[in-house]
Amino acid sequence: MSIRLAIVGLGKIARDQHLGAIAATDGIDLVAVASRNAALEGFASFNDIDELLASDVWVDAVSLCTPPQGRFAQARAALAAGKHVMLEKPPGATLAEVHALEALAKAKGVTLFATWHSREAAAVEPARALLAGRTIRRVAVEWKEDVRHWHPGQAWIWEPGGLGVFDPGINALSIVTRILPETFHLVCCELFFPENRAAPIAASLAFQTASGVPVEAEFDWRQTGPQTWDIRIETEEGPVVLTHGGSRLMVDGEPRIVEEDREYRNLYRHFVSLVGDGRIDADFAPLVHVADAFMLGRRTAVEAFED
Ligand code: NAP
Repeated sequence: MSIRLAIVGLGKIARDQHLGAIAATDGIDLVAVASRNAALEGFASFNDIDELLASDVWVDAVSLCTPPQGRFAQARAALAAGKHVMLEKPPGATLAEVHALEALAKAKGVTLFATWHSREAAAVEPARALLAGRTIRRVAVEWKEDVRHWHPGQAWIWEPGGLGVFDPGINALSIVTRILPETFHLVCCELFFPENRAAPIAASLAFQTASGVPVEAEFDWRQTGPQTWDIRIETEEGPVVLTHGGSRLMVDGEPRIVEEDREYRNLYRHFVSLVGDGRIDADFAPLVHVADAFMLGRRTAVEAFED
């Protein structure tokens, strides 16, 4: 039996990625949409998740594609109604709320999948396997993009809980937490807040692994021209470099992987298997590092940002 799915929040990422990925995935069918300002021809459409859950349109699962602020109430309503839930990244606006969702999913015996789409990039699992057998000396992350290009007019992203530059930065952290054999923790951080905004436009982070290996990250939303989504790992055996958001891998200077984007198709395939097996997949490690950055970061005011 195919999973009957509803999308909540028919916005940029739902249209750019989710609709196509669902259509390309066996075992799951879109049947409904809940969005205040959008509908999809040929599918049952509701204003919000409460209307959907109160209707006679049956869904087994919901995929929440709304911004992180406000997603908790939607996820809680769906889990309480016994629906399986897939969360866009970041899984929520606070750590306490995502732990509460995990506990509720366990109590209801349904699947909760906190997705990290960047972990599905082609170079991530090969890099993880490679690094398990190497001695790492240093890690440097550079995640620099043009906010005006990628997030035009998105007010929520600058509000508390919207994460600012950590909205893309958490993608880098989702990869690093997956590929490094050791855990790491933040030791120093500087956050750059536009004087008219409640979220940072740039961040400099210094982490350290359990054995003392430095992991440095630079996130910046002010980059125009070519965009940079790179992770460089210096190992005793030679450099391991992931570029293009984790879709390309260079090992000891030689290209190993260049692959087309399958991130969201992989996510939906995994969701189908989680539901089939009655499992939860909720790793909040990337959000822990972001929360630590807001806790430990020294704040510096920078030039006001206008869209
Ligand atoms: P978006 O287009 O601004 O928002 C998605 C939809 O959510 C909106 O169309 C809106 O639909 C609904 N929405 C917006 N604000 C809301 C609110 N306060 N309460 C309830 N619903 C609200 O955002 P997005 O870019 O798709 O991002 C959504 C999530 O996906 C974020 O967590 C983001 O980090 C993640 N993501 C985005 C991208 C990307 O490239 N944009 C990539 C990967 C992941 P209605 O007004 O119709 O209700």
